[in-house]
Amino acid sequence: MPMDSPSDVKAPVVIVGAGAAGLMAAIFAAAGPRPVLLLEGGDRPGKKILISGGGRCNVLPSRVAPGDFVSDGSPNTLAKILRAWPLAAVRRFFEETLGIPLALEAETGKLFPAVNRAQDVLDALLKMAQARGVTLYTETRVADLRPDGSDWRVALSDGRALLASRVVLATGGLSVPATGSDGAGLNIARALGHAMTPTYPALTPLTCEDSAHHALAGLALPVTLTVVRPQGGQPLRATGGFLFTHRGYSGPAVLNVSHVAVRSTFEGGPRPTIYVQWSPLDAAAWEEALRSARGPVSTLLRDHLPERLADQLLAEADLRLAYLSQLRREDRVRLVELLTRYPLPWHGHEGYKAAEVTGGGVALDQLNPATLESRRAPGLHLCGEMLDAFGPIGGYNFLWAWVTGKIAGAACGGDA
Ligand SMILES: Cc1cc2nc3c(=O)[nH]c(=O)nc-3n(C[C@H](O)[C@H](O)[C@H](O)COP(=O)(O)OP(=O)(O)OC[C@H]3O[C@@H](n4cnc5c(N)ncnc54)[C@H](O)[C@@H]3O)c2cc1C
Repeated sequence: MPMDSPSDVKAPVVIVGAGAAGLMAAIFAAAGPRPVLLLEGGDRPGKKILISGGGRCNVLPSRVAPGDFVSDGSPNTLAKILRAWPLAAVRRFFEETLGIPLALEAETGKLFPAVNRAQDVLDALLKMAQARGVTLYTETRVADLRPDGSDWRVALSDGRALLASRVVLATGGLSVPATGSDGAGLNIARALGHAMTPTYPALTPLTCEDSAHHALAGLALPVTLTVVRPQGGQPLRATGGFLFTHRGYSGPAVLNVSHVAVRSTFEGGPRPTIYVQWSPLDAAAWEEALRSARGPVSTLLRDHLPERLADQLLAEADLRLAYLSQLRREDRVRLVELLTRYPLPWHGHEGYKAAEVTGGGVALDQLNPATLESRRAPGLHLCGEMLDAFGPIGGYNFLWAWVTGKIAGAACGGDA
């Protein structure tokens, strides 16, 4: 039964934030002996789950490696966290324990609920939390956390306060603040002395001021992007969908490399170059095609690329009306360059309002990876997007939220 006020409960485990990580933490904390209170600042839990995957919720990826994730923290710590709840076991939890069969989208490797409804995922999590005795309070926003003897004093923004034996902070990052993740929890973690990796929008569209590209808005095609960082190092590659928008570029391939561009705008200095290969044909294949085919160059390009893009590239090469038989060597070299190593002009990014996730956050070395308990503030556990790690498009960010939520929750529920 819900209590009138969370402050009526003696020595509870308090979970702050009823997003993906907080809901999973609550479910696992509730396996222990203490009462579990789930405090959500918004009017409803799980808003981001509902808008995820276009309302279908890409619950998990079908495969994962620690190297898929971006973090300034130790790769070993990251791998240790992911190993704590292997992907196959998380999948079984959704399918068998929560009763949400998952279906593979073969072209992308993403796992969605077979019914394609994010609402079912949220409902199943809420049902399990309720069945295990978790009490959810909505419109209950945590303003501050302070150690109080061996307990935690949880101050609410309406002036009330409660004492908790343990606290799990699961307040998300800064992306799409309309869903409730406005950075308050990051500020609380910072005020408690946790070292942070500066936050930045990740998986966000890039902007471009080039009007020739704006004219291609709506055009989508599969590409390969190669990002060359000015400071050197291994280039970052991403193959997948690319979308011209009215303001720049989006699509999974762009989102998956956007953090490199975004971070460079924050850090100043030279910017990375993003090269595009517009079709599966590499330089050697195009060279061969341009030499062996006959007729207008535009016909050949349109066989492999959307017409509007083919025409744009030919305009840039000044070869719109050219025939293949007329091409000089330098024309071919220039065209192959534009087709396979096109330097994409970009000027900025769409920021947190469109970012699927937040990069940076609480540094992983601030936590015990086995429990996600803070090394700075014993009795406080942190999980989800507020930690310094995120993955690409494809279910990786929910995987991170589920796994870290389970670790933090189970660590609170396991002891009396
Ligand atoms: C449009 C969009 C689509 C996405 N699609 C996918 C997808 O299909 N697959 C995937 O893997 N990932 C997807 N993601 C990313 C994924 O949604 C996030 O990585 C994940 O939701 C993070 O979970 P979280 O619980 O850490 O944070 P959140 O989901 O942000 O939850 C944090 C919760 O804490 C609450 N809160 C914040 N501050 C306080 C406070 N002070 N007191 C009380 N409560 C507070 C918030 O209201 C919120 O409910 C998507 C993201 C977006 C924006």
